[in-house]
Amino acid sequence: MKDMNELKDLLRRIDHKGYPAYKDTKGIYQFTNYILDIEHIQGDPFASPSNIKIIIKGKTADIPEIYYNKKCKRIMLQDYLLRQFGKKIEKYSFLAKGSGKSGLMSISKCGQEILERSACQINAENGDIIIRMEIGFPANGRSINSRELIKILFDFLPRVVNETMLYKNIDKTAIEKNCRLSEEQEYIRKELKKHGLIAFVANGSILPRESGISGKPLKNAVKFRTPQSMNVEMNLPYSGLVNGMGIPQGITLIVGGGYHGKSTLLEALEKGVYNHILGDGREFVITDETAMKIRAEDGRSIRQVDISMFIQNLPNKIDTTSFYTEDASGSTSQAANVAEAIEADCNILLIDEDTSATNFMIRDDLMQRVIKREHEPIIPYIERIRELYDKFGISTILVAGSSGAYFEKADVIIQMESYSAYDITEYAKKEAKKYIAEKSVETIKNDNVVLPNMERKVCAYKDWQGDRVKIKINGLDSVLIQKDCIDMRYVEQLVDNEQLRTLGYIIKYINEKMFNDKANLRDVVECTWDLIEQKGIAGICMNRYLPSNLAMPRKQEIYACINRCRQLKVKCE
Ligand code: ADP
Ligand code: MG
Repeated sequence: MKDMNELKDLLRRIDHKGYPAYKDTKGIYQFTNYILDIEHIQGDPFASPSNIKIIIKGKTADIPEIYYNKKCKRIMLQDYLLRQFGKKIEKYSFLAKGSGKSGLMSISKCGQEILERSACQINAENGDIIIRMEIGFPANGRSINSRELIKILFDFLPRVVNETMLYKNIDKTAIEKNCRLSEEQEYIRKELKKHGLIAFVANGSILPRESGISGKPLKNAVKFRTPQSMNVEMNLPYSGLVNGMGIPQGITLIVGGGYHGKSTLLEALEKGVYNHILGDGREFVITDETAMKIRAEDGRSIRQVDISMFIQNLPNKIDTTSFYTEDASGSTSQAANVAEAIEADCNILLIDEDTSATNFMIRDDLMQRVIKREHEPIIPYIERIRELYDKFGISTILVAGSSGAYFEKADVIIQMESYSAYDITEYAKKEAKKYIAEKSVETIKNDNVVLPNMERKVCAYKDWQGDRVKIKINGLDSVLIQKDCIDMRYVEQLVDNEQLRTLGYIIKYINEKMFNDKANLRDVVECTWDLIEQKGIAGICMNRYLPSNLAMPRKQEIYACINRCRQLKVKCE
């Protein structure tokens, strides 16, 4: 390791030289309170900025171990430190001037969810903090302006690090509060399992968001209150007793008039697989972390998925136990999404009628009378929903405002009225019973349903192998590996575009190391997931250095991403 003054001397020497002379600064330097690692230097002032790593030793930061000695606390602390660092660094960005990206100082921006990120990592063993960020090395035209870089590295950065990373200078109450929140969120997650619940929505939660493009809470929203019959009491370690709605395992319907807050409740449950920051309004909206949103996704590709649970006897005799298409319909796409969710270890399916294919969800009585069973390849979800739970333990939470057909299948029926929740199970069940007694069509008998075949094996795709493979993203919409686009628009539980970038790296890793047309997809993903749990994101990143802008997705989204790769060949025996 070199001394910081060596870097300063070097920088002074290369002032006014051609931009490539910056390459010589690559290396590791001891600064007063931290180690600076210049990992990658941009080729010119207009290229993507340079990558910098800062390591603050645990002893220097001196943050008490109780704030990071559990995974949930560590992730919360990382998130908190990163946000503080980000806020401070913003003020300095572009204060140093020059051409192109000269003077840029940037680090990951966090949203409402708390995610594990490569931008800030704490070593649980020794408390070392690693910060990864980007700096635009300054130039005038294409010649080095190292005086400006000296400002950044020897003035701006040390100040920000001192203000945000040393325990003696940081807001201790805030750390304490955040840490407690993370433990309480973890506590509720554990309690869910103990009480046979799949979700909890605390009284007083704010579910609606400011707008379709903002994750911030809606101002003056009606706060959530549980129906009395569904009240569950959680005895939180710090806040004490908190009451709220406990959604039990099984089948839950959310009904009610249009615009009364049904989708808003479901969306809050979708995001409840993540923990939320203080002040979000959904701090104690916690959903079983395997829950998956299922929707229609016309046009997606389906690669040898067993959708026979829902679709059989297609007119062209196509095999639906290993269904392949480059252009799925609404119903086949939704059927594939369910089968793939089961393969991805998901215990709860979240469905909104707003984004479902009607013919996948129900067949009304009159239609059953006119079009005979044998002529309809689709076995609608309503005929499987009960078995999915009774036989396989897979619960459903379903928003259904327009059809009462699901009443007889449901265990719990919640009505949303003017953003308030009511338990109408008894009343709706009674009405459903009367109605069924009156109607003349036979209710369809369930056949012997089995879980989808999960013996899918994936062949490696040569074009995605090697060091030169490029990974890019397009917001939350897609992952690009080389020139191939993986469409993720309808994978709705992705919340941060850095998760998509990480998915790109994970797919690249799996494709290079794991796909061999012998191991089945489940084994491959599980094995990769174990590796990530052990070694972190770095365990699967085959870059020379870990990019500064990666955030962890869930395991379920890894499956979802692989399932949407049109380049991969899949076999199913
Ligand atoms: P539905 O699915 O029942 O048709 P939505 O959930 O889409 O209704 O909600 C309709 C509108 O009401 C949305 O604009 C949403 O932001 C707003 N909204 C939802 N819940 C609340 C609430 N608790 N307080 C205030 N506004 C809300
Ligand atoms: Mg809706």
